[in-house]
Amino acid sequence: MLELLFLLLPVAMGYGWFMGRNSVKQNDHSAKQALSKKYSTGLNYLFSNQQDKAIDYLLEALKVEDDSVEAHFAMANLFRRRGELDRALKVHEHLVQQKNLPTKDKQQAVFELAKDFLSAGLFDRAEAMFQKLLKSKAYGLKSLTALMQIYQSTKDWQQGITLKKAIVKTRDKKLLHSLANFYCELATLALEDDQFIDVLELLENALLQDPNSCRANWLMAQIYENHQQYTEACQCYQDIYQQDKDFFPDVIDKMHHCYTQLDADEEFYKFIRRVYDETASTSALICYLKHIESTYNLAKAKEFMLLSLKRRPTIRGFKHFVKMQMTESEQESTTENLDVIKQLISEYINVKPRYSCRTCGFNSGTHYWSCPSCHDWEQLKPVRGLEGE
Ligand SMILES: [Zn+2]
Repeated sequence: MLELLFLLLPVAMGYGWFMGRNSVKQNDHSAKQALSKKYSTGLNYLFSNQQDKAIDYLLEALKVEDDSVEAHFAMANLFRRRGELDRALKVHEHLVQQKNLPTKDKQQAVFELAKDFLSAGLFDRAEAMFQKLLKSKAYGLKSLTALMQIYQSTKDWQQGITLKKAIVKTRDKKLLHSLANFYCELATLALEDDQFIDVLELLENALLQDPNSCRANWLMAQIYENHQQYTEACQCYQDIYQQDKDFFPDVIDKMHHCYTQLDADEEFYKFIRRVYDETASTSALICYLKHIESTYNLAKAKEFMLLSLKRRPTIRGFKHFVKMQMTESEQESTTENLDVIKQLISEYINVKPRYSCRTCGFNSGTHYWSCPSCHDWEQLKPVRGLEGE
């Protein structure tokens, strides 16, 4: 019964307005009587738990005028909150069909209807509704965002790119970032077919929309590397460091490979040393230790490692330290003991997620460009802190 009372609240509001307004119009007496009958029939259905029939009667009774629109929206929202999408849809559709609704209310009705379709998984119908609102001042940006979300869910990258002009006009950073990733998705497909020119063109477009898209540079580096253009690939990796220091540890090995191909290891280690000094990344540290060991000796590398661990302890750093101890140990029993410790740490690290989403905190052992939980682009990055970088 309590639910019915909640349902009645907006209905009663609309009806109260309707009766009040119409009471002054004596010549509308017969119309009022007819509507009043529909209203009481609607209520009867409501109390006898036949809610669908009740809605039909109540919608007819509530002739939509300026002042009763709010009551309609309230009623539909109530249905949506209760998970009764079909009923919310019915009310919003009823509003959309009203001919004399002010533009503002009409647009709100279309937007709410689109949201109903979206919640019901009817992407085509939601898309058609959102498309209608692209030029709306109040709902243009929201509709563009919703459309990009639809195309992301359906992997319809090309369709998303058709919205480029509208997105650029909004100058909305999140939408531009999303658009850049749509270009990156197409570039990934072109990369699989090794279409060099297409990949570069798509990625240039991505960087044009969002110069901070490290994914675009990451892909650009791949295609340059595939075509032995190592200088260009190295530049892309350096750009990634400027764009996103948190993501950078994931490209260190690939970057090293490209510098080695150019016979420029010295230059690489100089860069990595700078990365370590600026970010204290464990991956950069482990990489730089190789350089110390080959230039000087293991003892010097261990000394550097110990100082670094004291400065900023991490589990991965400690595992590497144990590995270094094993290399130096001459006693078989000590090596065996150290190996057990190393195995334990490895198992511990393996069950810990490597990536975490900076937007929603979703953890994963695998990297995704779009977070599986919140769907934000490029937010899954290596975990920081004791168990991460
Ligand atoms: Zn997320």
